[in-house]
Amino acid sequence: MTSDQGSRCPLCGGVKAPGMTTYTVDLGSGVIVIRDVPAMVCERCGEEWIGADTARTLEGLVEAARRSKRQVEVVAFEAAVTAA
Ligand SMILES: [Zn+2]
Repeated sequence: MTSDQGSRCPLCGGVKAPGMTTYTVDLGSGVIVIRDVPAMVCERCGEEWIGADTARTLEGLVEAARRSKRQVEVVAFEAAVTAA
């Protein structure tokens, strides 16, 4: 069976469904929290997968947060993307 590849969780065999996750990075000098990040989420074990485009956007947000030197930065993914 190869037709179903990508829609099943490789860890537990559960079904992956589109959802949202919160992405947190500890920069050492501070912490950035990015909310409402689109991801595929396993309905059984909760494992999350972020797409390549989303990952690239997250990298940009993390870089911007690193430069801002704030202790804690919380942003919503959609708002950050729209502002970029
Ligand atoms: Zn799973």
